[in-house]
Amino acid sequence: MIELIRQGLNGKQPLRRQWRDHELKESYDVVIIGGGVHGLAAAYYLARDHGISDVAVLEKRYIGSGGSGRNTAIIRSNYLTAEGVRFYDESVRLYEELSTELNFNVMFSQRGHLTLAHSDAAVRTLRWRAEVNQIQGVDSRLIWPDEIARLCPQLDLSDRPRFPVVAALYHPPGGIIRHDAVVWGYAAGADRRGVHIHQMTEVTGIDVEGGRVTGVRTNRGRIKTGMVLNATAGWCTLISDMVGLSLPVTSHPLQACVSEALKPFLDVIVVSGSLHVYVSQSDRGELVMGASVDPYQSYSLDSTLDFLEGLSGHVLELFPSLAHVKILRQWAGICDMTPDYSPIMGFTPVEGFILDVGWGTYGFKAGPVSGKRIAELIATNRTPELIAPFRLSRFTERTLVGEKGAASVGH
Ligand SMILES: Cc1cc2nc3c(=O)[nH]c(=O)nc-3n(C[C@H](O)[C@H](O)[C@H](O)COP(=O)(O)OP(=O)(O)OC[C@H]3O[C@@H](n4cnc5c(N)ncnc54)[C@H](O)[C@@H]3O)c2cc1C
Repeated sequence: MIELIRQGLNGKQPLRRQWRDHELKESYDVVIIGGGVHGLAAAYYLARDHGISDVAVLEKRYIGSGGSGRNTAIIRSNYLTAEGVRFYDESVRLYEELSTELNFNVMFSQRGHLTLAHSDAAVRTLRWRAEVNQIQGVDSRLIWPDEIARLCPQLDLSDRPRFPVVAALYHPPGGIIRHDAVVWGYAAGADRRGVHIHQMTEVTGIDVEGGRVTGVRTNRGRIKTGMVLNATAGWCTLISDMVGLSLPVTSHPLQACVSEALKPFLDVIVVSGSLHVYVSQSDRGELVMGASVDPYQSYSLDSTLDFLEGLSGHVLELFPSLAHVKILRQWAGICDMTPDYSPIMGFTPVEGFILDVGWGTYGFKAGPVSGKRIAELIATNRTPELIAPFRLSRFTERTLVGEKGAASVGH
């Protein structure tokens, strides 16, 4: 900040760019495809933790142009399986330190996360989640309407709505963050350690000889490398197809919207799985609202009126006082959905081709932990225990990590 003020006052020295442009080198030790939070975090931890900085991050547009710049920035760890809770909890802890770590304010606001139950069946699932969370040491518990009313008096807790609120899962460490800042902070940190970030660089093919990766082809030329990380989320099947690997992933649009800016109104995140909506209030005052993925597969980034109508109806069931609030804008991103709502991380049958995909509607929160653990996997050629349950082979071994009950709407 002091630097910024000094620069502003003397106006002589230009500000240092946070990340630089480079010529594409002929070869890199590691090529990361995808300049979202996952690709950039992996590059950062490769350089910071393992001294591997001969790394290129290839991004077909600008960094953060995928899901990482389009998400609703909810961070939490109150998942359903022990494997999921442990994994996301490490990410929350990394996020808590991230501003200091990157020397970049990522504005992490741990304001608490409420998942509402409107039926006995939903209460059972929330109780199950609370118990798994507590066994893993995560702060998460079932609460009842009196406590919900204290935390969020704006909610309609009467018996008038079609589906009255009967309980909630309360997760105090859950919060929201400034997603752009996370992307920029990792990019700046990786750049400082020698990583090359190449924007407007699209991968168009991957060379494989004798079952191992030997290089990638791009719109700017070829690169030789023996190690490629696929961190392209919604586009990950297109990249995996380039090495002849078929993934159990389908790509769906996910939409969100924000209201006009309001005075401070809501200081917790509210999610209703039954109504398929979630709401938080950003630092700018906008209500940030979303739902579950569109039911069709597509790479379209179009917004639809159908989404807005459905979402508004459900938000008004929870918060009738918002009836006159206007919607400011809406947008969409592409999500890489897996059958069990858990990611796919690790080695593949193609030597040197690593996956960090399947992030669906919930992958932003996992950026730090997957970046750190994927970097460890690449550097040591061994799968860290924390991410072993998310291996690709789980789909043939029938050892799924079923997270639908905790990930389908709550992000
Ligand atoms: C509306 C919405 C709300 C969401 N809300 C949340 C939330 O609240 N919390 C949460 O945890 N998650 C949320 N998510 C999910 C989250 O955004 C993603 O899971 C996460 O951002 C994935 O990060 P990534 O780095 O893997 O991929 P991305 O950020 O999508 O980056 C992948 C990059 O790969 C690039 N790419 C693709 N093909 C090529 C190619 N051939 N060559 C070079 N580059 C290529 C793309 O341009 C893109 O920039 C939400 C998503 C959306 C759309």
